[in-house]
Amino acid sequence: MFYGGVEAGGTKFVCAVGDEHGNIIEQVQFPTTVPEETMQKVIEFFRKFEIKAMGIGSFGPCDIDPDSSTYGYITSTPKIPWKNYPIVRVLKKVFNVPIGFNTDVNAAALGEATFGTAKGLDSCLYITIGTGIGAGAVIHGNLLQGLSHPEMGHILVRRHPDDTYQGKCPYHRDCLEGLASGPAIEERWGKKGSELTDRQEVWELEAFYIAQALTQYILILSPKKIILGGGVMKQKRIFPLIHENVKQIINNYLDFRELSSHIDEYIVSPGLEDNAGITGSLLLGKQAYQETKKG
Ligand code: ADP
Ligand code: ZN
Repeated sequence: MFYGGVEAGGTKFVCAVGDEHGNIIEQVQFPTTVPEETMQKVIEFFRKFEIKAMGIGSFGPCDIDPDSSTYGYITSTPKIPWKNYPIVRVLKKVFNVPIGFNTDVNAAALGEATFGTAKGLDSCLYITIGTGIGAGAVIHGNLLQGLSHPEMGHILVRRHPDDTYQGKCPYHRDCLEGLASGPAIEERWGKKGSELTDRQEVWELEAFYIAQALTQYILILSPKKIILGGGVMKQKRIFPLIHENVKQIINNYLDFRELSSHIDEYIVSPGLEDNAGITGSLLLGKQAYQETKKG
């Protein structure tokens, strides 16, 4: 039985067909342009297969409340052509199969909790540090959802006293995303992150902000594993800096080996590497299929 998965990112779309064990049978990716063009490619890809259900992990904000009239819409995105785009409705019309819909980071958290580095744990947090910062959480085995999906990238952090950069978030200026996303690094230092590998001060400041955020997530959600993905986290040298900063902020207040001697196994890279999001999207499809079987 095959499922379809769409990882709808602001930069690129990944589409895959896979089985219920998370094995990907075929996968394609293409840049995110305008909906007419991008969705045509999505539809062409899936037409080749007979799929039972689909899952979409989407960039946001998006409407994940099944009772809402705009359920399955990408809502207030700064990517204007995609604003209020009914992605679920468009795919439903063509394929008429059950469709699961959630954020890209919630999908990635689900992928990691099911087949990745948090396998066997009933909670984890997946955070992407890329063009934006976003996080998804699995808590008690379920994706965390309230009024809507969490927006953990926009929390406020304490500024480093030497950091005079104004911040890049159009809504909050110097929230976490405003200070620590890939574009914030590029604007502050005048070069892309990938060209700043040898500049230790760049990664020390980055770890200073990320560690504050992680500490707040730990204190509020108490996840059993924290997974950091996204383009900026390709700089593996940030990990030990984050570990040290988190330990310092917690200051032995919480007495767990995950927050002391074993912190390098607690705050980690995705076990599924770049496939966390697409694997989770397939799982959203599987969940949607199982829901329809139930009733
Ligand atoms: P998106 O968030 O758009 O889905 P990515 O997760 O790849 O895509 O994040 C893109 C951001 O990550 C860009 O701002 C880019 O400059 C930054 N980035 C990509 N590779 C690296 C790298 N090796 N080191 C530091 N930053 C990087
Ligand atoms: Zn913000």
